[in-house]
Amino acid sequence: MEKRDEYGLDTICQLSDESIADKWGALSFPIYQSATFAHRGLGESTGYDYTRVSNPTRQQLEYIVASLEKGTDAIAYASGMAAVDAVMELFAPGDRILVDADLYGGSVRLFNEVGKKNGLLFDTVDFSRDEYQDCSAQDIRAVYLETPTNPMMNVTDIKRLSRWTHDRGILLIVDNTFLSPYFQNPLELGADIVIHSGTKFLGGHHDTVGGFVVVRDKELDERLRFLYKTTGAGLSPFDSWLILRGIRTLAVRMDRAAGNALELAKFLRDNPRVTKVIYPGLSDHPGHEIMKRQARGFGAMVTFKVESKELAEHILGNTSLIYFAESLGGTETLITYPITQTHAELPVELLERNGIDDRTLRLSVGIEGIDDLKREFERLLS
Ligand code: PLP
Repeated sequence: MEKRDEYGLDTICQLSDESIADKWGALSFPIYQSATFAHRGLGESTGYDYTRVSNPTRQQLEYIVASLEKGTDAIAYASGMAAVDAVMELFAPGDRILVDADLYGGSVRLFNEVGKKNGLLFDTVDFSRDEYQDCSAQDIRAVYLETPTNPMMNVTDIKRLSRWTHDRGILLIVDNTFLSPYFQNPLELGADIVIHSGTKFLGGHHDTVGGFVVVRDKELDERLRFLYKTTGAGLSPFDSWLILRGIRTLAVRMDRAAGNALELAKFLRDNPRVTKVIYPGLSDHPGHEIMKRQARGFGAMVTFKVESKELAEHILGNTSLIYFAESLGGTETLITYPITQTHAELPVELLERNGIDDRTLRLSVGIEGIDDLKREFERLLS
């Protein structure tokens, strides 16, 4: 049995791939900042030839991410979007993909502006409401979703959906960025491909951009690795090292941030100027019971609505402890305005359908003291 099969996820964050251990015993894995690797003779590769294809620092990171996600391989990309784009390369003109109605805006842009140009067909479905049950087109090749979704926190039962996709030979692709592998492992629930923006909880410090695709099927892996070396969207050695270091504290950061998120969600719910709080950790969230079954935590993302657009603007213009910034998953709390930031390019019909309006704010809760966070919101909402 491999070490990674024996240990819990918090311990896996501290492991390393012993097959490429540093010969001097460095605990912090070295950054192999080399584009190419010398051969000892004809047919005598050290295992590394050229960094576009593979690199020891990146391989360490890929080992840890594959282990955390219970996959056989994780492939590290230069960004989350490069990872989504790589997965889209698996499909051919005429292939139909069912995509969730609520998704990160950049993914929607990729599907509409690049995928469609390449002949892919996209149908929008609300998976959390089981709308996929009515889809009968013969050319459906894949299903693409986030759970919980960005930003409306809709929750889909992955296991139930995977029974539907597997009965039809359809690939199930889950973007697991919002929960990180520490809280949810979609491959174990029946997904075929897991995607991450490594920029978020995995990196954890808002200091680099990266992405991952994780699989456990050999054939899929071979196709993705072929595309990887061919298109060249690999993560650099230095950025690999930053994410590797970030993952060392993934477990403690996630536990703390999720604890803060629950406290803050309850605190916001009690404020009369807040009209709605959407957090799957609250027992009245429609996905609460599903999350209890399929995840080990509810994450650190909280979406809420305030009484007016003016109040939303006031909050964004008067932050002191927290930051008004795009992104999520770092140690600091960020507040985002989806309608002008992450979801600005969404068609109006989709914004309306999802309920994203000018009173909707999204929080990525950090690891600050909860009393300080509460005081910040008391002031912002007064
Ligand atoms: N997936 C989700 C859920 C995201 O929130 C994001 C970015 O915010 C991405 C993918 C894209 O990741 P990146 O910004 O690393 O390209």
